[in-house]
Amino acid sequence: MKAHDGMYIDGDWRPAAGRDVIEVVNPADEQVIDHVPAGTAADVDTAVRAARAALPGWAATPPAERAARLAALRDVLEARKDEIAETVTAELGAPLKFSQAVHAAVPIAVAGSYAELAATHSFEEKVGNSTVYHEPVGVVGAITPWNYPLHQIVAKAAPALAAGCTVVLKPAENTPLVAQLFAEAVHEAGVPAGVFNLVTGLGPIAGQTLAEHPGVDLVSFTGSTAVGRRLAAVAGAAIKKVALELGGKSANVILPGADLAKAVNVGVANVMSNSGQTCSAWTRMLVHQDSYDEAVELAAAAAAKYGERIGPVVSAAQQERVLGYIRTGIAEGARLVAGGPEAPRERGWFVAPTVLADVTEDMTVAQEEIFGPVLTILKYEDEAEALRIANGTVYGLAGAVWAAQESEAVAFARRMDTGQVDINGGRFNPLAPFGGYKQSGVGRELGAHGLAEYLQTKSLQF
Ligand code: NAD
Repeated sequence: MKAHDGMYIDGDWRPAAGRDVIEVVNPADEQVIDHVPAGTAADVDTAVRAARAALPGWAATPPAERAARLAALRDVLEARKDEIAETVTAELGAPLKFSQAVHAAVPIAVAGSYAELAATHSFEEKVGNSTVYHEPVGVVGAITPWNYPLHQIVAKAAPALAAGCTVVLKPAENTPLVAQLFAEAVHEAGVPAGVFNLVTGLGPIAGQTLAEHPGVDLVSFTGSTAVGRRLAAVAGAAIKKVALELGGKSANVILPGADLAKAVNVGVANVMSNSGQTCSAWTRMLVHQDSYDEAVELAAAAAAKYGERIGPVVSAAQQERVLGYIRTGIAEGARLVAGGPEAPRERGWFVAPTVLADVTEDMTVAQEEIFGPVLTILKYEDEAEALRIANGTVYGLAGAVWAAQESEAVAFARRMDTGQVDINGGRFNPLAPFGGYKQSGVGRELGAHGLAEYLQTKSLQF
């Protein structure tokens, strides 16, 4: 699609207040593909005012009607799924098949799930002599990252609209085109003017102004822990509600007796997909000492097979950051068994699928989020040590456990300080709450738990 040169505010594309633009670049070939306006405080203010004005009407709209708009939105996204996939491929660089299967398909499923939830959720309950109403929190300032650009938008906008909130979205600067496409879809779906608004722009300008705006009741942010910490402080000072989906450093724990080849192969695929730019990726593989050498060999072979199939990372800066981590890992004593710290292609911000073995807990690559296609493999002696390593970071977003018996894996998973754990390769569930323990965040997205983030209760006593 061709980019809009304005902001989607109050049901219309309006000229931006300033003249600055943001270049959109294809990470696979480094070509500028389009431009979008860089929003200013004035754009954010107009958008928040539109969202505030639309709030009473949308909040009072019966849930069944809100559900109908969300179902229509799902249908528009479905009808435009090829365009979504092509747009994400162009601005993120993801291979087209992955864009189709994940970047387009998952948001369609999530939008559909909220159409159903809006229709079936009970927005009223009886507690003794009280009636408790679940009312919308108000105007949501949504700030999203580029790694799953449409999914992150839908995971906020769909539950917010289902709850009766209105929204101002500030999407990531690297991937604004699919955000514009989403605004078009909202419009086509017949969502009333002002209920959803889009301001493209830079984080420290448009993003920060949005979070600070007194007309915003809830700041919902997905992105880095550094920015999340700052936004939590901004929200805290104003006593606004805040939801944070932040970084991760998840463990893939392979217990003795598990299907080693399957656990390693699925684990490598999990880290390499989306070029490692997945907050919940299992970037630390924990293997018992008796199976360690075999696991390393299997992982190196699996990573090498990824070779040409992997897409680039999002930007030159991200590429340099990831390659820097690989260099640091080697310098701190890790053994490089696949990939490496050299850019594999002359053009495009690619990083070779990389595996670092002999990684120990204290190394930088075992503690910090790399956000690239880099797997670290750590050795443990017994379960107690595996658990200590698994829980030994500031993060707690996701993880995996593999064991011969499901019950054994579940017992281990229950002791992990993390928000989601896949047992023996369990499938992604778009209705299961997603979010972090510890510094991985505050609050949950997806399903009924995600809807609850956008609701507040009012009790009437009789
Ligand atoms: P980022 O924090 O730099 O940017 C995220 C968003 O915040 C962007 O829209 C950006 O413009 C905006 N932003 C930046 N500075 C801001 C400021 N001062 N005030 C307000 N907004 C600001 O993160 P990123 O590099 O885009 O994304 C990668 C990070 O996101 C990784 O750490 C990853 O783990 C995390 N992430 C987490 C989840 C999750 O659900 N937990 C999902 C995806 C990504």
